[in-house]
Amino acid sequence: KKYGVNELREMFLHFFETKGCLRLNSFSLIPHNDNSLLIINSGMAPMKPWFTGQEIPPRRRVTTCQKCIRTGDLENVGKTARHGTYFEMLGNFSFGDYFKKEAIPWAWEFLTEVVGLDADRLYPSVYVDDDEAYQIWLNDMHIPAERIYKFGKEDNFWEHGSGPCGPCSEIYYDRGPEFGNGPEDVMGGEGDRFMEVWNIVFSQFNNDGHNHYTDLAQKNIDTGMGLERLAVAVQEAGSIFDVDTLKSLRDLVCTLAGGISYEQPGTEQTDVSVRICTDHARAMTFMISDGIMPSNNGRGYVLRRIIRRAVRHGRKLGISGSFLTKLAENVIAESRDGYPELEEKRDFILKVIQAEEDKFEKTYEQGMDILQEMEDRLEKEGSKELSGEDAFRLYDTYGFPLDNTREILEERGFSVDEAGFQAAMKHQKDTAREDRKKSGKSSTYMGASATVYEEMDP
Ligand code: ATP
Ligand code: MG
Ligand code: MG
Ligand code: MG
Repeated sequence: KKYGVNELREMFLHFFETKGCLRLNSFSLIPHNDNSLLIINSGMAPMKPWFTGQEIPPRRRVTTCQKCIRTGDLENVGKTARHGTYFEMLGNFSFGDYFKKEAIPWAWEFLTEVVGLDADRLYPSVYVDDDEAYQIWLNDMHIPAERIYKFGKEDNFWEHGSGPCGPCSEIYYDRGPEFGNGPEDVMGGEGDRFMEVWNIVFSQFNNDGHNHYTDLAQKNIDTGMGLERLAVAVQEAGSIFDVDTLKSLRDLVCTLAGGISYEQPGTEQTDVSVRICTDHARAMTFMISDGIMPSNNGRGYVLRRIIRRAVRHGRKLGISGSFLTKLAENVIAESRDGYPELEEKRDFILKVIQAEEDKFEKTYEQGMDILQEMEDRLEKEGSKELSGEDAFRLYDTYGFPLDNTREILEERGFSVDEAGFQAAMKHQKDTAREDRKKSGKSSTYMGASATVYEEMDP
């Protein structure tokens, strides 16, 4: 049966409740008391104190569906079948309670019996030195040895920033030969045929932030499965942008772009922009609903970059005028079952998006024209690299985030002098600071922006 995304979320949480887990709501995307992380990027991130033993969890078994943002995947989005900057991570967690012998069979039971995936299309991987996990897959789950992959630290040792970490066992789903070659090419690589769906982490170490590992007082389980990826497998969808909830948003993007077609011969370029708009609309809606506001630094700047990138790809698709609030309304409609707060904060979310979109729209066309002039000049000079000063001017005067400029240039075969950009930024900051010292005031001729430069984060 082809379960929908909202159904799958409920099935997962319910299944782990039957295993004794306490169901908790998703935590906010804004980390609480954790300076090592800008935005929550996994189910375990908000629970670090429960893993380390610093705080007592409400129960030793917990299950959640956590909103996640991964800025590190910004460049993957639209290009792979499996990455979003925003996604939901299903997880079950043990704080010094159940361990490998339970976590592995339960994951298998959920995938093969509850949602009914074909066991022959699932491939586990283990950390190369983790014989215990290997034996469980081999002897308890009866997976043939040649189907259990052993990988090194890069793939099968999970850690994000400081805190709890450990070896892991992952489950890949074979989407079929139409998505690539055989297992020899793609397992653990960047291919999309074998898609990683679930990561089961045996978190038993603590990283102090300087790669000094110590044993945690307790052995924990931390698992994470992308809800959208699970839906790809269950619905036999071509990518996360084809699962039910995202497809409706994706269709709306195509409609707003004047009814363009998607994934037809010759549409490869616009397909990427359609997917980026789809993903970024989700990311911005959830970020704002958790109280992140567009700004020039930190989380706020991640949001600003996401909104501006969506605007640019919308323009590439030929959408004129503002369109992001229309996408946000669709996100709210598709996700309010799981996240009722979206409905409550609807007006606020739409207002923030509209304001940020208006702000960028004012300078966008001008900035694009200036960039075109810059490119023409480079062309004449026979150069392929935009100077740091020029990139900084686009940033400073026209509000073009560096990654935006880089992306546009790349599409046209140019690069940007990023070190030069940083130098120009530093020069601007230093000048502002000097001027402030001289005048003895907190801001000078640059007005309010003088203080802002202190915090900019391109
Ligand atoms: P990949 O190798 O495919 O980038 P990952 O190893 O970075 O994934 P984990 O850190 O192990 O992912 O996260 C646990 C699970 O969360 C993954 O197995 C996957 O199902 C899901 N996931 C991770 N990143 C994304 C993303 N950008 N978009 C959607 N789902 C994701
Ligand atoms: Mg990844
Ligand atoms: Mg991986
Ligand atoms: Mg992984």
